[in-house]
Amino acid sequence: MVARFFLRLSDYGSAIQFLVLSHCNDEAFQLAQQHGQMDSYADIISSEATQEDYQSIALYFQGQNKHLQAGKFFHKSGQYSKALKHFLKCPNTDDNLAIEMAIETVGQAKDESLTNQLIDYLMGESDGMPKDAKYLFRLYMGLLQYREAACTAIIIAREEQSAGNYRNAHDMLFSMYTELQTQKIRIPAEMNTNLMILHSYILVKIHVKRGEHLKAARMLIRVSNNISKFPSHIVPILTSAVIECHRAGLRNSSFSFAAMLMRPEYRHNIDPKYRKKIETMVRRPDTSEIEEESTPCPYCGFMLPQCELICPGCKNNLPYCIATGHHMLKDDWSVCPHCEFPALYSQLILLLETESVCPMCSETLSVNQVEKMDDCSSFLHPDQSEH
Ligand SMILES: [Zn+2]
Ligand SMILES: [Zn+2]
Repeated sequence: MVARFFLRLSDYGSAIQFLVLSHCNDEAFQLAQQHGQMDSYADIISSEATQEDYQSIALYFQGQNKHLQAGKFFHKSGQYSKALKHFLKCPNTDDNLAIEMAIETVGQAKDESLTNQLIDYLMGESDGMPKDAKYLFRLYMGLLQYREAACTAIIIAREEQSAGNYRNAHDMLFSMYTELQTQKIRIPAEMNTNLMILHSYILVKIHVKRGEHLKAARMLIRVSNNISKFPSHIVPILTSAVIECHRAGLRNSSFSFAAMLMRPEYRHNIDPKYRKKIETMVRRPDTSEIEEESTPCPYCGFMLPQCELICPGCKNNLPYCIATGHHMLKDDWSVCPHCEFPALYSQLILLLETESVCPMCSETLSVNQVEKMDDCSSFLHPDQSEH
């Protein structure tokens, strides 16, 4: 009766709702089918539905060639293989919802042949178009195959890095690092090192902007010593290293990077603005160098240069400060409240005078959110990273 009332008003949504409430799902389904109201029927029935209801909806959408919806309801009815088939037929959209759903489906199906189908699709074997590799990473995470996930993460970041997209590579490594950490998966040493080097590169820009040329120079030395990881910007990075080191009184380092730039494969690409100056430096070397300040190892107290990250005393890899790139100190410990990466308390406070986000996770951060920690022992794990 009531349903007919709504029908007379052409208010199909309410009619369907009424039928579902009265447990007349078949009638509701037919009504939805007749009047093209399947989306609202699916919405209304969502929590009450049986597998058969989901299947009917899925078949309806299949008939309409609406692959995303068909996949969604086959997924709900537990028919993973059909669901995947539809998701993989979806045109690529900006939000890539179909790929996300395909990953979820395969994660639940735990069926090797479905997994391989999706991997082929993501690798572009089926249509010649490789998909964004972050989906491959998610798929492996979803399948609890953490080792494969970590390898994928390293490969993706390496590609971004060699294309010169250092900020992207950094942010990608960072987000995958946190995902692995949340799952309590050991972070591969290579991933750790790459993130540290990329972070050092990001810090150079911040230090230069803040006029902290000695700190910038130290980070440029670290980056330049790993210059093979920055193949698209070898000459500009070495040039900055020469200039910043010279300015900061690290003349010997400046000289050795200047000498590297004299190699025939680099020499002609030096910015003409600096070429003369650099050539003169190489001809008349100045080998004076300000000594790097030494600070104690947080594990064993051994005094080592503040930018060294492996302790010669106890051989541990030392955690580094996200504000400076220096190794951490036991009595100056704080963490970013968002990403929990460590920072020297005094240095992070200084940095936040001019910066408003965490240099690691880019979340908004202000001085009053940072606390000095009395006990940092929970952050100190004697070496357990892979070598
Ligand atoms: Zn030590
Ligand atoms: Zn952070």
